[in-house]
Amino acid sequence: MKNLIMKVVSVALVGAMGFAIAGCGSSAKKLTVEEGKLIMATNAFFPPYEFYEGDRIVGIDQEIASEVATRLGLELEIQDIEFDSIVAGVQSGKYDIGCAGMTVTEDRLKSVNFTVSYATGIQSVIVKEDSAITDVDALISGEYVVGVQQGTTGDIYMTDEIGDDRIERFNKGADAVLALTNGQVDAVVIDDQPAQAFVDANEGLTILSTPYAIEDYAMCVNKDNEELLNKINEALNAMIADGTVAAIIEEYIPSNG
Ligand code: GLN
Repeated sequence: MKNLIMKVVSVALVGAMGFAIAGCGSSAKKLTVEEGKLIMATNAFFPPYEFYEGDRIVGIDQEIASEVATRLGLELEIQDIEFDSIVAGVQSGKYDIGCAGMTVTEDRLKSVNFTVSYATGIQSVIVKEDSAITDVDALISGEYVVGVQQGTTGDIYMTDEIGDDRIERFNKGADAVLALTNGQVDAVVIDDQPAQAFVDANEGLTILSTPYAIEDYAMCVNKDNEELLNKINEALNAMIADGTVAAIIEEYIPSNG
């Protein structure tokens, strides 16, 4: 009889302790940096994924992140920072997500987690219409200087391929394109959609028909926050399945026909 009472008491105690630990854990660990908010870091000079309309940041990433936030019961806050600082900012816990037409790479995966992919990007080469550069091989084998946006996959791949001396790095893709129109660089390697937007906005530029690399875009999340990663993945998967993601992309990049 005594034994049974002891047993009941100890089970109750363990139960209470478990409850206390769980209770303490959930109040100490927040889902997001600021309760109720989803803070997104981006670099808002990457049309049509992110760009300014007046003083508002709009685009595919803003719309997708905003819908994810709504489905998670959070309010989206966007911070416009340099592209090269996004991964470090998410890793250090300053921002909840990086969402910036960001390519999933092995190297970035060492610092952050990535959600499921919601879009595809293609590294493309912009040259002047009368350029002697007609394909990627010519770009690599010639003595050409290439403009890139600092810290992007275009920068990383081209640096690997042709070395530092032939690379000019810019904070914004638009500045790289300006350097091309000025004759300061011979080509710009950048993602296909911003490439198209820049070519449309500038006379005398063209995109080589040979794409350079095909990539997956995803949001990055702090490695210690698997709960947020899982919740975002759940929302993104549902948005992919119900056509929300496709509709947002179609709004900015209308497919032919
Ligand atoms: N997709 C490229 C990367 O992740 C460029 C992204 C960007 O410039 N916003 O490096």
